Amino acid sequence: MERQIKNLTIRDPLTNAYNRRYIFDQLVPKIEMSKREELVFSVSILDIDWFKKVNDTYGHLAGDYVLKELTRIMKENIRSYDLFGRYGGEEFIIVTTGREKHDVNTYLKRILKIVSETVFSFQDNYIQITINCGIADTKDLGKKDLSIENLISIADKRLYHAKATGRNKIVCEIK
Ligand code: GH3
Ligand code: MG
Ligand code: MG
Repeated sequence: MERQIKNLTIRDPLTNAYNRRYIFDQLVPKIEMSKREELVFSVSILDIDWFKKVNDTYGHLAGDYVLKELTRIMKENIRSYDLFGRYGGEEFIIVTTGREKHDVNTYLKRILKIVSETVFSFQDNYIQITINCGIADTKDLGKKDLSIENLISIADKRLYHAKATGRNKIVCEIK
């Protein structure tokens, strides 16, 4: 019973992925550690491309199915010590500790490829999606400016840059 209540507060009911609040709670001590001990970690925001079109074409239930299946695929492919959650809507977040963004870029490229090659089969429909991603790591900010909000804001800017310059794409710096 207690565990059920705890799950309700930390997980998203549709996908059962961790919710944004839980991820943010986990980030608080990481920020502190990073300021004191030079711990490097990264935050990646992922956004499904043209997801509204998936709903419009196949229906909202098909969209729900894609979100659930995508969560399963992500959990299967990220390492157990990385954190994965639903950031909101068709957006997800990954926190990796101990690796800087260029490493994470390589790691996520593989996962984006898996997603783009997956056929989501719902009723009589075969749905394919791609994802865009923006990555920020603690080295993008000085200790003074290091905060959850600033990390997310940089990852978000890079995500929007990815969208504006292509799809199925990861951006970890804007040249
Ligand atoms: P872009 O490629 O620019 O990201 O466009 P988009 O269509 O992916 O993004 P937009 O923000 O225009 O639309 C997001 C869509 O995600 C609209 C909304 O209905 C859908 N969505 C959000 N949460 C859920 C959900 O829980 N279930 C379903 N089925 N759809 C959802
Ligand atoms: Mg979005
Ligand atoms: Mg989208």
